[in-house]
Amino acid sequence: MKTKPKAYSMGVGGFEIIYRCGNKGCDFTFNMANSQWNYCPCCGKEIDWGVVVEANEEWKQKFLSVMEDKEKLADLLKELDTLNLTIKDGYRRKMNTTKATKTAIRKSNAQYYLGIGWTKEDLLKKAIDKIKELKNSISKLKYSRAELERTCAERLQRIEKKQEENAELKEQLKDTIKLPCKVGDTIYVVPSETNFCLNAMFGHKTDNRIYEQIIESINFYKAGVYMAVTCDGLYTNHSKLLNETWFLTKELAENRLKELEGKQDERN
Ligand SMILES: [Zn+2]
Repeated sequence: MKTKPKAYSMGVGGFEIIYRCGNKGCDFTFNMANSQWNYCPCCGKEIDWGVVVEANEEWKQKFLSVMEDKEKLADLLKELDTLNLTIKDGYRRKMNTTKATKTAIRKSNAQYYLGIGWTKEDLLKKAIDKIKELKNSISKLKYSRAELERTCAERLQRIEKKQEENAELKEQLKDTIKLPCKVGDTIYVVPSETNFCLNAMFGHKTDNRIYEQIIESINFYKAGVYMAVTCDGLYTNHSKLLNETWFLTKELAENRLKELEGKQDERN
C-alpha cells in the first residue's frame, strides 16, 4: 500500500508545498515537494504523490499568516492532507493560478531583476517593450472586415463546389455499380461456350457441369466493372459475364447448361 505524504511546510520564495513521509514514526522530510522519489529513502515506504504540490498566492498568504501559530498551522496543513486524500490518480496537482498568483510572480520576478542590478527604469522599459511586442503581434493578426468576409465567401464557395462534385460522383456510382450479389452469396458457375466445346472434344464431358461457389470478395474496376472472386480462388467472375458463365440461381445455370448442350448437339 502506498502512503500519502503529509503536508509539512512551504519552499522559500515560490509556491512549493513541502511534504514529509506519511509513515508513522518516520517523518522524513522530502526537500522538494515535487519529489521524484517514489519510495521514502528513510523507511522505504512507497509514496503516493497524488497530492497538491504547488499552492497559489491566496493559500501562500494563509500559510504565512498562521506560520507562527503552531495549532493553526497544523489545522491548515491537515486541511490540505484531507484534500490530498481525494486525489486518487496518483498525479501531482497545482492549485489554480489565480490573478493574485500571477501578480505575485511578476512582483517576485521584478525583485529578482532589481536584485541583480537592474534599475527601475530598466524594468519599466522591459515591461513597455513587452506590451509593444504584444500589441504588434495582435495587429498582425487583424484582418479587415472585408478581408474576413471575402475569405469566408471563398471557403463557402469551395465547400459548395465540393458538395456538388460529391453529389455527381454519388449519382455516377449509383448508375455504374449496382451489385446483384454480395460477399457470402452462393453463385452458380458454368463453363464458357469455348470451354464447354473443348471439354466435349477432349473427353472431359463431366467437367461441363455447374460449379457451386461462394463469393469471397468483390473487386471493383473502372466504369462499373467488378469481379466476384469465389472461395476456392479458382474463379474470378467478371461482371460482364453474369448470366453467361455465372448465375445467381441454380435454375438459371441449369438452363444455360441445357442451352450449351443443345448448341453442342447441333455442331455434332
Ligand atoms: Zn518514511
